[in-house]
Amino acid sequence: MFFSELVEFYERIEAITGRIEMTNLLVQLLKITPPEIIDKVVYLTLGEVYPPFIGLELGVADKMALKAVKLASGMSERDVERAYKELGDVGLVGERMLAEKSQVTLFMQQLMVEDVYSALEKIARVSGEGSMETKIQILSGLLASAQPKEAKYILRIVMGKMRLGVADMTILDALAILFGGGKEARDLFERAYNLSSDIGYVAKVAAQIGLDGIKKFKITLGKPIRPMLAERLSSAEEILEKIGGKCIAEYKYDGERMQIHKDGDEVLIFSRRLENITSQYPDVLELVRKHVKAGEAILECECVAVDPETGDMLPFQELMHRKRKHDVHKAVEQYPVIVHFFDALYVDGRDLTLEPLEVRRKTLESIIEEGERVKLSKGIITDDPNEIEKFLHEAVEEGCEGLVVKALGEEAIYRAGARGWLWIKLKRSYKSEMVDTVDLVVVGAFHGRGKRSGTYGALLMAAYDKQRDVFQSVCKVGSGFTDEDLRKLPELLGPYKISHRHARVETGMEADIWFEPKTVLEIIGDEITISPIHRAAWGMIREGYGLAIRFPRFTGRYRFDKAPEDATTIDELIEMYRRQLKKLMPSPAEGQGAT
Ligand code: AMP
Repeated sequence: MFFSELVEFYERIEAITGRIEMTNLLVQLLKITPPEIIDKVVYLTLGEVYPPFIGLELGVADKMALKAVKLASGMSERDVERAYKELGDVGLVGERMLAEKSQVTLFMQQLMVEDVYSALEKIARVSGEGSMETKIQILSGLLASAQPKEAKYILRIVMGKMRLGVADMTILDALAILFGGGKEARDLFERAYNLSSDIGYVAKVAAQIGLDGIKKFKITLGKPIRPMLAERLSSAEEILEKIGGKCIAEYKYDGERMQIHKDGDEVLIFSRRLENITSQYPDVLELVRKHVKAGEAILECECVAVDPETGDMLPFQELMHRKRKHDVHKAVEQYPVIVHFFDALYVDGRDLTLEPLEVRRKTLESIIEEGERVKLSKGIITDDPNEIEKFLHEAVEEGCEGLVVKALGEEAIYRAGARGWLWIKLKRSYKSEMVDTVDLVVVGAFHGRGKRSGTYGALLMAAYDKQRDVFQSVCKVGSGFTDEDLRKLPELLGPYKISHRHARVETGMEADIWFEPKTVLEIIGDEITISPIHRAAWGMIREGYGLAIRFPRFTGRYRFDKAPEDATTIDELIEMYRRQLKKLMPSPAEGQGAT
């Protein structure tokens, strides 16, 4: 397949903003893609070379990319600089410079998709001393054989700025239509994706084996399973009612969630966002080798920092010391951890994700040998709300955030990648006001004035609509930022700046600056109200209104551990709004359960 064919699609995709049209174009593209390279085409379209959990980045900055453009085009540094100043986009600079050059080069071989992919792969893999120079060389070589438009996209991919607005979910839709015969097959494809987190791999299985391969999709050690997530409610009674009367209530440890893949002595650790965090936890690797009595396993645990002197659990923030690149061993000594295992998803060839919780728990108990640093999550089986309440206080007293209450029975499978009512969080601080924080995605900003001129005055924040895979604005937040935050924010958000509202963002507000939805911040407000401007839960509570957060403030917590799709969802907001109403004016009609 010629790379130019791909580029033609990119040009068309870039020009549209609607999801349906985008999906249709993707269907056309994948239809003409040879099955052997469909995974590569999928990664490139997403602006990647590998699925994100591999953790290999192309890592080419503006300056280096411009240097490669200069080398490939033979233009002077001044010309390149000038074009960059004028266009502000390295992709466009590359396109223009090569267009000027191509007047002299007449005969050139056409680039194939594989050529581009393998060059990008090389760029991603080079590391160590002198790697920057090597990357520039490979890139300029590639650009020298590219048409101007091809150069534009090569540069965007290499800089991590593809931004076609295509997401994994859009590709899934396209795959279901193309290989599953329509939207009805969407769930099967979604399950395959949830079991592998690798959309390119799912595409390849579909293209090479067909729908049957998707139906019998197998878990692969080393490919993370998308985590099951919890809903939330504010009282033990409500939870028991929702969950079917009987439950297992477990401590909700305040640490870092880990998905551990063990293949003999090989151990990998993935974060909740499915990043490979193995190198940060050499001590956990040792613990797993010693305490997990299975050859192959995929297990989930919460890793909690402990006070080495008292053995007390420390808050989540203490784990930040593990995020350093150097001296990890020092951090291991200074900030020891305990792992609390709570689920088993795969053990010695057996996929447990469709087994009920009791079976998974029994399996987990049979392979974990507890020790000082390795525990099974603490839980009680009960149908008594008072007992849950008491257990909650106990958990909080021991340094936990609250409880995760889990459903029992045949239906209580591991729902990979889903937030559902099989797991429900119970924290202690629910009141009628909005005392609970939400995690929102930055989608835009407003220029600051006075003391804040030159930085942002406020940020436009959005919640996540999972059904439609879009981000809907819910407030404009200007308080709670320290001077340090205000200084840092342009640096932090700058790389995600785009010239127009992102295709997956919905809002009635006109921001001065728009961003790709990437950065998640923790926000607290006074209450949730209906709003004619914000688009969260649009029309779901009242025709022509959405939900907004009144008097929002930044709590100071940057949620780098959350992907934008992990932000507070519309459903959660609606639920919080309803609970709040119910407390204010109890009426039999209100709050009959969640939507
Ligand atoms: P959330 O991430 O906000 O949906 O809350 C659920 C989180 O609680 C999970 O992602 C885990 O990181 C954490 N957690 C702590 N203890 C447990 C437990 N016993 N079972 C499940 N999740 C737990």
